Amino acid sequence: MERIHAAQYNAIRLSLAIRDGRAKLALTRPQLAQAMGYKKIDRGCQRIAQWERGCALESLDNPNGIDAQTHKRLVSQLPTSKHLEKLTTALELNLEMLENYREALLSTFALSHQRHRRIREFKKHTLRSEHSLIKRHHKLLLDHANSLKATDQFKEIQLSSCGVSASFLGAIDFTLGDLLTLSSNPLVSTCAQCGSDFWNLKVSGSTLSGRHTVTGFCTAESCDQSKQQLPKGLKFGRFARVCLKGEQSNHTRSSHWSLSQLIHHLGGSVPLIEIYSDQFEVFAHYDPSTWMLTFTSSANSVDLSSVFETQTLLFAASTLTREPEYESSSDKKHITIQSLQPLKFGAFVGNSLNVDLGGEGVWRYRDGVLADPNGVAMALMKMDPPPAVLFALARHLSGHHHMKEPTTT
Ligand SMILES: [Zn+2]
Repeated sequence: MERIHAAQYNAIRLSLAIRDGRAKLALTRPQLAQAMGYKKIDRGCQRIAQWERGCALESLDNPNGIDAQTHKRLVSQLPTSKHLEKLTTALELNLEMLENYREALLSTFALSHQRHRRIREFKKHTLRSEHSLIKRHHKLLLDHANSLKATDQFKEIQLSSCGVSASFLGAIDFTLGDLLTLSSNPLVSTCAQCGSDFWNLKVSGSTLSGRHTVTGFCTAESCDQSKQQLPKGLKFGRFARVCLKGEQSNHTRSSHWSLSQLIHHLGGSVPLIEIYSDQFEVFAHYDPSTWMLTFTSSANSVDLSSVFETQTLLFAASTLTREPEYESSSDKKHITIQSLQPLKFGAFVGNSLNVDLGGEGVWRYRDGVLADPNGVAMALMKMDPPPAVLFALARHLSGHHHMKEPTTT
């Protein structure tokens, strides 16, 4: 917040200086435009009016940062260094002071945009890591396909990087069940590079223009083909319709599991998931192979093994209806998750996971980013963890949240 106030201060000083300077010399805007050497006086007047009005800084309020377009728009509202030189000469102003205001504003814009870019990086990582997880373990998943499809908890694992998004038809992120059902046809085609099977994991485009992109992986280990065309003779619109019809059901999807947790369960090896703070520093990690969420600074751990009850759970549907109870082993801080209805932390609304903390609001997770009830990105990761991890994180962060000072410099 302080940063925004500083930006407002600098923006106001900058426009006031131009306005006051022009008033002092009793110059009209056309006169100033002429003095600055504008050939098109109208154009010059527009620019001067813009500088005197100042930048529209509301977009800096977004705690997750501004996108490239907004960044460009904000920068375009400022006079360039050349403009400032001409302005200060024409208005007899102190160039260095105005340069300082401008530089300070530019660095605020850049910081905000950098934050936006870094958050997006996590999203990209999450999508990529899911693709490589499926590539590495697709045989394992196919070997268990029938059992997995018969178990709701596994079938309904939400995937974040697989699905179809077709303008005019809709968009859907696949569940593991969808993926396995479609994996024979039409999801798998021939790799254009080596002729092995290619999995079309993510297909997006427009049914009208026929323009589309397909990303996925080639099943040959040494082949790194990750993008190609749909197979010849297969129209995107038809493909999208088949996929969207697929196994899609309208009821709320809910699973305690994540893909990496399942793969560990089936005997595959999965990496540790590092969890980053809103300042992009690792503050916790989750190890799917030990079911432990560990907070780095306090060395507190949350044991989530009871959520998965691995020995009895697999393929025994009757054990799935029990309510899980989690309790932290730590006595220092209370991270207690008890007797939750599965829906409370495993339910997807649209393509994001809702983490309902009751009185403290609903947190939402999507593509590597856990956001608080105000939409502020509070925890970031490069792979989807199981929902219980997100729940524990939200509880942990909402406890600190209210006491924390705004992070500014
Ligand atoms: Zn290939």
